[in-house]
Amino acid sequence: EGRETRLRVVLRVRPLTCTETRRGDQQVVHSLGDGAVHVSAARHGATFGFSAVFDAGASQEAVFEGSGMRQLVELAMDGYSCTVFAFGQTGSGKTYTLMGPLAQSDTQPASPALLGLMQRSFTCLLEQSRSRGSDLALSASYLEIYNEQIRDLLSPGPPCALPLRWSKTRGFYVENQLSVEFESLEAIVSLLLQGSQRRRTSAHALNRHSSRSHALLTIHVRSRAAGGCPSKQGTLCFVDLAGSERVKETGSSGELSLEANSINRSLLALGHCISLLAKPRGKRTHIPYRDSKLTRLLARSLGGSGITLMVACISPSSRCLSETLSTLHYASRARRVTTRP
Ligand code: ADP
Ligand code: MG
Repeated sequence: EGRETRLRVVLRVRPLTCTETRRGDQQVVHSLGDGAVHVSAARHGATFGFSAVFDAGASQEAVFEGSGMRQLVELAMDGYSCTVFAFGQTGSGKTYTLMGPLAQSDTQPASPALLGLMQRSFTCLLEQSRSRGSDLALSASYLEIYNEQIRDLLSPGPPCALPLRWSKTRGFYVENQLSVEFESLEAIVSLLLQGSQRRRTSAHALNRHSSRSHALLTIHVRSRAAGGCPSKQGTLCFVDLAGSERVKETGSSGELSLEANSINRSLLALGHCISLLAKPRGKRTHIPYRDSKLTRLLARSLGGSGITLMVACISPSSRCLSETLSTLHYASRARRVTTRP
């Protein structure tokens, strides 16, 4: 508590997709073990190190257990503000890592083995809360940032923009967001599904169901004061960032390119904050969290009192080389960022 803690950064390399295999794409990313990964290419050979690397063969369970996600759930129960975010190019496996393939097919439910970090965390949270026998109140809120507007994914009716405010005690917060109490796994999974279906997605060349917004699902864990222990309030926030992309590669135009521009703008703002935060504390200048809604909402997770896990996602294909290298550089920089939980 109060001590500087580094962001934990893990890397997941997805398998080649059928299309990539059919096209004969080369694999340019190789895990070397011990958290090291090598990218081989004519002029760009480079090795990067992370807290853990999950290669194409890694199961969803292995990612949950090896990423430190379980500890994060426990810390949220102890009253900390915890955040996990997935980032990487469009189509690199962010949504798959967080939710599994379930969010992508409405017809048949995914097999339990394919459930993502979110469902596994919910299970862990509910199990722990039962075994601790403590009096916990759980609730969820779910927001998306689409074209720099914040929308509530849980409130019924047409989407309306919610105001983002700042106060000395709370930092940045969203006014009037709905928070729904839940007590069972079915209830929270159904909130997740309802909300995900409201998210803005559009099909384009790189991914048939590409998320066009950043989505933040927050679980609020409140423990009531009992037997001399003060009440605690922790949060566990899952952030599914919209992918970075180059407009010409995805064949986006018109409304799509407006979306792409606001996605890229907020990712750029995030990257900028991360590179400033990565400097030693003494040499830090002002961090421009106010440059985008995304960075305002992530201010506590990145520079404040939160505990943060980053899951960088990449494709192993030679065709994605430049995006892959940029994700890897970005992720390596994030390893130097510290918070004070
Ligand atoms: P993103 O959210 O980063 O845009 P997705 O999670 O939608 O990307 O993944 C793109 C495609 O790749 C999807 O069809 C998904 O099912 C598949 N995919 C991603 N990661 C894996 C994985 N680890 N194993 C198998 N398929 C994966
Ligand atoms: Mg996605």
